[in-house]
Amino acid sequence: MAGRIAALAATALLTLGVAPCARAAWVDRTEAIMGTRIYVEVWADDVAQGNAAIDAVMAEMRRIDALMSHYRPDSELSRINAHAAAEPVRVSPELFDLIRLSTHFSQITDGAFDITYASVGYLYNYPLHERPSEEQIKAALPAVNWRHLALDAAHHTVRFAHAGMRIDLGGIGKGYAVDRSVALLKERGITHAIVTAGGDSRLIGDHRGRQWLVSIAHPDEPHNPDKVVTRIPLSDTAISTSGDYERYFDEDGIRYHHIIDPRTGHSASKVRSATIIGPTATETDGLSKTAFVLGPEKALEIINRMPDFDAVFVTPDGRLLYSKGLRPPAPRPAWGSPATPPAAH
Ligand code: ADP
Ligand code: MG
Repeated sequence: MAGRIAALAATALLTLGVAPCARAAWVDRTEAIMGTRIYVEVWADDVAQGNAAIDAVMAEMRRIDALMSHYRPDSELSRINAHAAAEPVRVSPELFDLIRLSTHFSQITDGAFDITYASVGYLYNYPLHERPSEEQIKAALPAVNWRHLALDAAHHTVRFAHAGMRIDLGGIGKGYAVDRSVALLKERGITHAIVTAGGDSRLIGDHRGRQWLVSIAHPDEPHNPDKVVTRIPLSDTAISTSGDYERYFDEDGIRYHHIIDPRTGHSASKVRSATIIGPTATETDGLSKTAFVLGPEKALEIINRMPDFDAVFVTPDGRLLYSKGLRPPAPRPAWGSPATPPAAH
């Protein structure tokens, strides 16, 4: 009898010994892809399932990087930049669709978002502290105009209708990669996750009963977790921040950074950072540059009319400005009936 109990106990212990491997858990990983930090955290049935899901996300990030990196001479994007001034360049339907979507963003933002910004943008080299002269900007600026992109949807070709044009998808590609990754995770049955690529994140579900807390960095100390300007509780949404502290150099008190106003060819300077919250990371990524370039006054006018979107700005003098949906509700009287109810948004 004692032997039988011992055997049962051993079986129970063995079962227990196996159980931890098959237990649901948070699994996370950080990798450097697309010239940025990719962070993925998923709630998985077990660690192996979680790691397999993260493997798939990282592979997707690498695939998209190979498609649209301007650092790789063999990418489809580099082929466009090398040949589209001379002849129509045929590209994959995927890249064609993203370029077409980019021109849609240009249309609705009156050109504040414009992938042809690169016609001037490539004249800046931030690590080497190089910037174009006023003459060089003046000469290159006529090529910055999304309307010069001739897109043939039947043949998936791209042609430049102006000399000296270049395109760059750095302002939308990471958001797109995050959305693609989220789709892959959902296909695998993941119901709680965060995918971050640089300044672009998307959340699946919540953090199991709590909201995810997404930080907005302090522009002067972007890597100091104790110095964030605010933390926003979120679930099931996307959030993108564009800041003047990501790629830049300072010269004579002026900051030259990677968000370019397509109208002037200079770094935009109305804010230190612009954050957009909305349904997909492709949209929030494109709109965060737009909001940065337009500045709070104009951008809030637009965002406050878009029911699914919100915005947070950090101004040069350190103030935080919020869109209507993030502002605290109007104070109610302590007793009695409330005064005018807060306006719907
Ligand atoms: P991250 O690259 O960290 O996601 P952002 O989302 O702020 O940062 O994107 C900045 C990038 O957007 C720049 O490096 C550049 O490639 C691109 N960009 C800069 N200005 C514009 C613009 N006016 N329209 C479209 N893309 C832009
Ligand atoms: Mg981005």
